[in-house]
Amino acid sequence: MNLKSAAVGILFVSTLSFTATSATKVVAHRGFWNTDNSAQNSLVSFHKADSIGCYGSEIDVWLTTDDHLVVNHDRIFQGLFMETASFEELRALRLPNGEQIPTLDEYLAEVRKHPDTRLVLEMKSLTDYSREDVACGKIAELLRKHGVLNRTDIIVFSLNAAMTFRKLFPVGVKIFYLDGDLTPKKVSKLGLDGIDYSLKVLKKHPEWVRQAHDNGIEVNVWTANSEKDMKYFIDLGVDYITTDHPDKLIEILRQ
Ligand code: MG
Repeated sequence: MNLKSAAVGILFVSTLSFTATSATKVVAHRGFWNTDNSAQNSLVSFHKADSIGCYGSEIDVWLTTDDHLVVNHDRIFQGLFMETASFEELRALRLPNGEQIPTLDEYLAEVRKHPDTRLVLEMKSLTDYSREDVACGKIAELLRKHGVLNRTDIIVFSLNAAMTFRKLFPVGVKIFYLDGDLTPKKVSKLGLDGIDYSLKVLKKHPEWVRQAHDNGIEVNVWTANSEKDMKYFIDLGVDYITTDHPDKLIEILRQ
């Protein structure tokens, strides 16, 4: 190989890797629920997110008063408080698509069936730190049991939970901070892997995308649902967009 063809080869490879790393990735918010027979945080919503080719699918995880990990979003769901209701009471409820509230154990079994889609796991903030620490430990145990650590990203509002997860996973699992009150530089200094901020925060601080990248961390934005917002954040160069309309975002990225 002469020098010129080697240079062309290097250029080609570097162009390819640039394309691969610069593309915005699609995360289905609470799974792909905005479609037939699905529901937020249902087992089906992960399968549906995988079926349309999402990069990741997000879930919310609560710890019940009797130490069960369940997948659901609302703090109060159908009149029951997630943190104070018993597991049995919560399991008697039905999601809009007829499923029971999944346990995290059941959910991870579903995740294993769809190896092409990453899990974006939000642990909900709990009323005290010791309960959060219990939840973090149990989540870590289940992720290990199902062998999905290498395809799970963790997102949290609680800085306590973020630092507890960091101790549990010093390397190999990305942890993103959700609250929006810290600069990317500070988040990076804490040893976390990214910011996962609301579109309101990132529209106020568009420079934080660049600052995050300059400090070696990633950027996810939630919840971009309009075409205008999706295009704005693609142009801004965020790494991930979390949306209730992953099908629409995939379409826009293909154009
Ligand atoms: Mg969430």
